[in-house]
Amino acid sequence: MSQTPELLKCLIIGSGPAAYSAAIYAARADLKPVIIEGPVPGGQLTQTTEVDNYPGYPEGRTGPDMMEDLKKQAQRFHTEIRSGWVTKVDFTGPVHKVWVDDKVEIHARTVIIATGASAKWLGLPNEARLRDIGGGVTACAVCDGFFYKGQTVALVGAGDTACEEATYLAKLCPKVYMLVRRDEFRASKAMVHRVENTPQIEVLFNTEVKDVLGEHAVEGIIAVNNKTGAERKLDVTGLFVAIGHKPATDLFKGWLDMDANGYLKHDPDRTSTKIPGVFVAGDAADHVYRQAVTSAGTGCMAALDAERWLAAQGLH
Ligand code: NDP
Repeated sequence: MSQTPELLKCLIIGSGPAAYSAAIYAARADLKPVIIEGPVPGGQLTQTTEVDNYPGYPEGRTGPDMMEDLKKQAQRFHTEIRSGWVTKVDFTGPVHKVWVDDKVEIHARTVIIATGASAKWLGLPNEARLRDIGGGVTACAVCDGFFYKGQTVALVGAGDTACEEATYLAKLCPKVYMLVRRDEFRASKAMVHRVENTPQIEVLFNTEVKDVLGEHAVEGIIAVNNKTGAERKLDVTGLFVAIGHKPATDLFKGWLDMDANGYLKHDPDRTSTKIPGVFVAGDAADHVYRQAVTSAGTGCMAALDAERWLAAQGLH
C-alpha cells in the first residue's frame, strides 16, 4: 500500500547561504520549512577557505564554519534539514511535488529553489589539489583577491566575468597575466576596452595553462601557446579561474523559464517564478553578483514572498 506523501508548507531545495537564510525567515514565520541539502551540503562556501567579506564576522570565518553557523541558526528555529538529492519535480499544481533520491515523494505548498551554481574548472590535477587545500587556486576574485594584494597573479578566461575579475585584481596586484585560449575575447567590447586600458593586465592570447606548480601553494604556472606549442613559466602566486559557472537548474527544465546559460528567471523585484508558489533565491538565479551575502539576501526575500503568497491564498 503506498503511503500518502507528507504535505509541507515550505520546502527549500539547497543548503547554501540562500537556502539557510530562507529557512531562518520561513521558520520564524512558522512555515515549518524542510531543507533538502542536495549533493554538496553547505554549497560552494564549503569549498572555499577564508570568508572575509560576509558582514558580521570581523575576524573572518572559514567557509565550512560559516555554513555550520548558518545551519545551526536555521535549526535553532526548528528547520528540519534532510540529506538527499531532489531528482524530480512536478509543478503541475496546485500542490508541488518533489521526489528525493528518486524514491521519497514530498508535497509542498511552496518551494524555494536555492540550488546554487558551481564554478567551472580547467580539469588539471594540480589545479584541483591546490584549490582543495586553499593553496592559491580560486574561482572568485572578489572573494579572494585581497589575499594576493601586491602579488603577481594569473587569470584564465575571456568572457565578461574574466574581464571584470582581471580589472578588479589589477586594483590590488601590480601584475595580472590574463590567459585567453583563442586569439580574441568573448566579452563585450566595453569590458575588453577596460582590460586593454589597464596597464597592470598583460593579455596572453592563444594561451592555456598546462600545469600549476607548487606543493602547498601556487609557485607558478606553465603556460603554453596553443598555436606554437611554446611553453613559458609564469611566476605567479595565485591562479584565478574565470571560465564560467553552471547553475544547478537542469532539474527545472521545462517547468521554469531560464536564460541561455540556465539561470532561473523570476518576476521583476520579486523571487516568484511563473509557477505560483515556486520561488528562487541565490546563485541559481544570479549570474551577476554571486556573493554569499547577496544569496542570503535573496533567500530572505524568497521566504517573505512565500509567506505572503501563502497568506494571500488563505493557507497560512
Ligand atoms: P562565458 O561563458 O561568457 O565565458 C567563459 C570564458 O571562459 C570564455 O571566454 C571561454 O573561452 C573561456 N573558457 C571556457 N573554458 C575554458 C578552458 N577550459 N580554458 C580556457 N578558457 C576557457 O562566462 P562568463 O562567466 O564570463 O559570463 C557568463 C554570462 O554572464 C555571460 O552571458 C556574460 O555576458 C554575463 N556577465 C555579464 C557581466 C556584466 O554584464 N557585467 C559580468 C559577468 C558576466 P572561449 O571564448 O574560447 O569559449
